Amino acid sequence: MAPRDTLTRRADEVTDPTDYIGVEQGKTRRIDRMNKEESPASSRRGWAAFNEAAAKKAEEGFPERFTLGDENEAVLMVFLEDQPLQVWEEHWIQEAPGKRKSFACLPSVNEDAEGCPFCDELDDKPSLLAAFNVAVLDEGTWKLKVLVGRTRVVKAVQAHANGRTTSPINKDGLYFEAYKTGTGTESTPHFNRMVESLGEVSESEVIPPETMTELKSKLWAQYAFAPKADDVRKVVDAVLRS
Ligand SMILES: [Zn+2]
Repeated sequence: MAPRDTLTRRADEVTDPTDYIGVEQGKTRRIDRMNKEESPASSRRGWAAFNEAAAKKAEEGFPERFTLGDENEAVLMVFLEDQPLQVWEEHWIQEAPGKRKSFACLPSVNEDAEGCPFCDELDDKPSLLAAFNVAVLDEGTWKLKVLVGRTRVVKAVQAHANGRTTSPINKDGLYFEAYKTGTGTESTPHFNRMVESLGEVSESEVIPPETMTELKSKLWAQYAFAPKADDVRKVVDAVLRS
């Protein structure tokens, strides 16, 4: 697996929001710097350029989003921190029929942003989102993922974060069985408390201490980034024209 601390560190160092495009269809995607206009054209030519860009992408990696599955796909998970790694707002814009994209609301990911064209020009109301660093038992292996949720999911997590037996949510030996019931906007998230010391987690499922240490050393510092100004302009203009 590619070392994840590379991007985590990079995320801390981002000063130019135009380096990144925001959450697109649920994924954070890095803008490939090789594609930017200021790169000399010659560096973009040939297989060497492709290989170099591909190697860079593989090395940096990106957060793997954890999405709640149905009840029969319930998974065991652990919160690695007692609070969200990021809270932001997101626009879900229909650029053209059948073409919807999500964009982070600019001031929510960049405090220096002066307004947001989606709010100001399209009068679109963004949704509130939060992301959490979690460990998920995925086919027998504990993996670092990012749980991204809207209000309903975040409130369910918050209830545990404030709960007498579940606070802090990242305490040792506390696991959750996570799934959702219902579909779409009507679905209900479930995080059922599972306590190792009560024998509710089988020995084979317990997260090994060295795995826990490793995953905690790779926590993501940021999930959503400001979309590139040019992309925002293009989408806003397309919607205004339609
Ligand atoms: Zn906005």
